[in-house]
Amino acid sequence: MNNYYGVSDKSYRAVKECELELEAKFKELDAIKEFFNIKLLKIFIDNKVKDSDFESKTGYCYDDIGRDKIEKIYADVFGFEDALVRPAIASGTHAIYIMLSAILNTGDELISVTGAPYDTLQSVIGTEGNQAGNLISKGILYSEIELKESGDFDTHTILSSITDKTKVIYIQRSRGYSTHKNFTISQLKEATKTIKEKHKDVIIAVDNCYCEFVSIEGDNLPDVDIMAGSLIKNPGGTLASSGGYIVGKKKLIEEAASRLYAPGLKKEIGSTFGTNRSILQGLYIAPSIVNTALKSSLLFAKVFDKYNYSVFPEIEEVRQDIIQAVSCKSKDELIKICEIVQGNSPVDSFVKPIPSYMPGYEYDIIMAAGTFIQGSSIELSADAPIREPYTVYIQGGITLEQSKLILMNIVEKF
Ligand SMILES: *Cc1c(COP(=O)(O)O)cnc(C)c1O
Repeated sequence: MNNYYGVSDKSYRAVKECELELEAKFKELDAIKEFFNIKLLKIFIDNKVKDSDFESKTGYCYDDIGRDKIEKIYADVFGFEDALVRPAIASGTHAIYIMLSAILNTGDELISVTGAPYDTLQSVIGTEGNQAGNLISKGILYSEIELKESGDFDTHTILSSITDKTKVIYIQRSRGYSTHKNFTISQLKEATKTIKEKHKDVIIAVDNCYCEFVSIEGDNLPDVDIMAGSLIKNPGGTLASSGGYIVGKKKLIEEAASRLYAPGLKKEIGSTFGTNRSILQGLYIAPSIVNTALKSSLLFAKVFDKYNYSVFPEIEEVRQDIIQAVSCKSKDELIKICEIVQGNSPVDSFVKPIPSYMPGYEYDIIMAAGTFIQGSSIELSADAPIREPYTVYIQGGITLEQSKLILMNIVEKF
């Protein structure tokens, strides 16, 4: 083995050995990548993607054929009738807000059945802070049902909580800033099927952030009505420079487009600002990028586990998203890990991340993201709310070698 990482042989070997032990798991991930790469290639061929699709329109942007094709492709990839994929959707939170606020009216009830949603969504809903325009302030009723200790859905409580007012059942697939055990795809499918059998008119809406192209079964959810995510996470494949997506039933997507633009305008307007190519190319390579991100997460889990840190998910757990959470021993250690991540990144390596206020979050956040796209967490990034128990959330990665260099430096430091 040739150590050109510039670390001690001991640290080098520690990480290399972990990598070798993951060989079988990496093979499984490669099979998932192979499936999605072929699926995407076929969808691109069927939709006759062509050079002129990458051109952008001006003004109202009627007849932006490339834009419309991107949305058809997103719908095909995730198995939905329609999609809204726009660089004008500023983030995952924005996409999810559009999805929820488009379908919920005063007096309607929203039930989150995966416990408290991701931090920024709590500001959107109105359970944290009192931000102007939050859903509760507009007369939307809201309640939460926790997942069971096992990570499974509490289907009994869900079914008995649904009333005439219940319009949306909300499911967050990835862990967010939490270390609870995650439900499996079959548990998700079982729960949504049961809900739909008993209440066919309830809309099942999903926060799909970080879950795209992670598992073959996970990208085909027949009982889900609408789903949203970020293009600077998995499906942007590190190339999309901004944006979010919503996929779902045709009528719901029309409502979402009316919410983003204006009633009557539908999806027929809206500039893509020259991003058609990067959005399509990013989607096309996304399974390969997700594959690297998953290998990186596994390697982080393996190395930290070797030194007796608690890791979520554990190495043997089936992964539902690209996030690897690691329980740090102290706030200082958490900050130190983020510094090592930042210091060994291709962009802004000389910058020191410090915890601070971020819009939408109630706690100070530290975020190491030495990324080409600002804040992109499909590129290698490490972040955490500064609150006990000090857990750092690591995800993404364009190259596995960057993760190895970071891990070798972490081994060296600790
Ligand atoms: C990242 C994320 C979001 C949205 O976050 P943005 O930073 O607004 O893109 C929402 N839910 C979950 C679970 C997430 O991981």
